Amino acid sequence: VARILDGKACARSVRARIRREIAGLGGIPHVAFVQVGEIPASTTYVNAKSTAAEKVGMHSTIYRIEGYSTQAQLLALIDQLNDDPGVHGILVQLPLPEHIDPLAVALAISPDKDVDCFHPANVGRLTLGLDGPKPATPQGILMLLDYYELDVRGLEAVIVGRSNLVGKPLGVMLLARHATVQWTHSATRDLGSHTRSADLLISAAGRAGLIRADMVKPGAIVVDVSTNYVPQYMEADDGVRVIHIRGQRDKHVGVDPHELPADELKLVGDVDFEAVEKVASWISPVPGGVGPMTIASVLWNGLTLYKLSL
Ligand code: NAP
Repeated sequence: VARILDGKACARSVRARIRREIAGLGGIPHVAFVQVGEIPASTTYVNAKSTAAEKVGMHSTIYRIEGYSTQAQLLALIDQLNDDPGVHGILVQLPLPEHIDPLAVALAISPDKDVDCFHPANVGRLTLGLDGPKPATPQGILMLLDYYELDVRGLEAVIVGRSNLVGKPLGVMLLARHATVQWTHSATRDLGSHTRSADLLISAAGRAGLIRADMVKPGAIVVDVSTNYVPQYMEADDGVRVIHIRGQRDKHVGVDPHELPADELKLVGDVDFEAVEKVASWISPVPGGVGPMTIASVLWNGLTLYKLSL
């Protein structure tokens, strides 16, 4: 049975390292979190990130502006934070209201304060292997592999997904660490023929049940990035409600997860965990795998930007 890549334990160790580094710095990094509108999930994320920043000894300030604020108003706030020498990192929580262009926002944040690493200049720096912030989730995945001393050099790494947020930068970062990288996506033919070649399989498709055991090479390291909400229960033939965990069976029960209350949903990744853990050598659970690493990684970027500002 595979060993668990424990994101909670790793995130604790990263946070402890950040705390130690800050204590030795002689100054305190300050990250500004900006939320536009009042989407409850965004409020939860912003509060969690801000609290996490304070806990590692950073200063954090939350700026909340109304959902009907104009793009110009948001850009003016960003300008003000860019010009403030007491602010070292800026994070604008996504999603933004429809009338605000996320690319305009990414371009407005100074690359020197870009904790999310969304600015094209930082994406370019990443590609060229230069210093700077790194995309949070991919960096968190590498921290998780490092924590367990899993060296990716020479491994066949197959990534399912090519988004700008996860799949694409992750491939660039694995390449820099000398993995042999293959990206797959929704137009990939016969996904299993690719995933079966992976020594390191990372799935970030957002499709529950996509990765079955027969698609995994025995002994592979499997990292599940995705967060899918699927129904917890289904009616069995005898009318008894049973726990339902396999996302691909949603179709058969005909339940739209969006229509269910939160307490009837269950968080799963892309990987059929119970079956794949019997085949893989290492596996990251959902929840408790990559998720906790993302916030730790944002904080790491805050520290990195502060040190680069000195
Ligand atoms: P995204 O923008 O929706 O990208 C999904 C990618 O998967 C796309 O490249 C898509 O291909 C590909 N894909 C979709 N269905 C596929 C299939 N059947 N076979 C192969 N590839 C397929 O999502 P994202 O932002 O990268 O996030 C991916 C998942 O990770 C989501 O579940 C998200 O919630 C989760 N996530 C978790 C964390 C965390 O901290 N745990 C952080 C970020 C994201 P195309 O490009 O061809 O459409």
